[in-house]
Amino acid sequence: MSRLSVKNHDRDVAGYRYIYPVISRRSGGLSIGINFNTNNACNWRCVYCQVPDLSIGAAPELDFDLLASELADFLQDVLHGSFYQRFQLEPKMRVIKDIAISGNGEPTSVRDFAKAINLITRVVERANIAESYQYVLITNGSLVHKAEVQKGLQIFNQYNGQVWHKLDSATDIGREGINHAGLSRHKQLENLITSAKLCSTWIQSCVLGFASADQGQGGLIDVQEQQAYLALLAELMQQVSLQGVMLYSLARPSLQAEANMITSASMDQLNNFADQIRRLGLTVKVSG
Ligand code: SF4
Repeated sequence: MSRLSVKNHDRDVAGYRYIYPVISRRSGGLSIGINFNTNNACNWRCVYCQVPDLSIGAAPELDFDLLASELADFLQDVLHGSFYQRFQLEPKMRVIKDIAISGNGEPTSVRDFAKAINLITRVVERANIAESYQYVLITNGSLVHKAEVQKGLQIFNQYNGQVWHKLDSATDIGREGINHAGLSRHKQLENLITSAKLCSTWIQSCVLGFASADQGQGGLIDVQEQQAYLALLAELMQQVSLQGVMLYSLARPSLQAEANMITSASMDQLNNFADQIRRLGLTVKVSG
């Protein structure tokens, strides 16, 4: 018998290809993760990324029938089977809190993204979940300009889905140093605007530093980085409304080559930065 805990983030724990359960301390229950990136491929390479053997690329062709049957089976097991007993979940955590499309790579890179979102929402609807749960898409947002991704976000919005859109830096140095992403500031802003226009959008930002300037630059611990970030948020808020900002630090060790070069923000640093963002008029959630 296996025990599923807040520490157990093994995506294979339930034995599915696309579905992985996670107990989320933050949300206080079960998060049903859906991973399209079974090949551990992403179009970015963030220095803090926890994906093992991360490679550059897109999600592989999706097996829609398998995804549908895995999700239906898993929901059946959770709602009417012995899932909670088998995994020895404490009673207060026996509630579905969210259905999170969050992969070992960038989920919107899957071909037919909109078809996948449509399929997931149909399977979930058929399961008749009594509790109120939240759909979440965790994305780096770099492919939001694509028509297929926008179509998927529109469907997601019909189900009150939320986009958690990554923004770790508003500078060229930061985007390159933290995310290894060749994205211009203009493009980054445009993607955030598009996302927020189509669907409820939270900005999700990892606040980190580098052990020394030789090892990298651009983490949000840096005061200049914070100023650039606040300026971008202010510009963004003139055009769209955002749900807010989620700030977090390095919760688990990076599995990238830079693991020993990056440093976590302290709770004080996170809270100080959060206060500055709140002064812009945004809601901020902080997790250390
Ligand atoms: S965007 Fe996400 S999956 Fe891709 S490299 Fe960054 S942290 Fe990893």
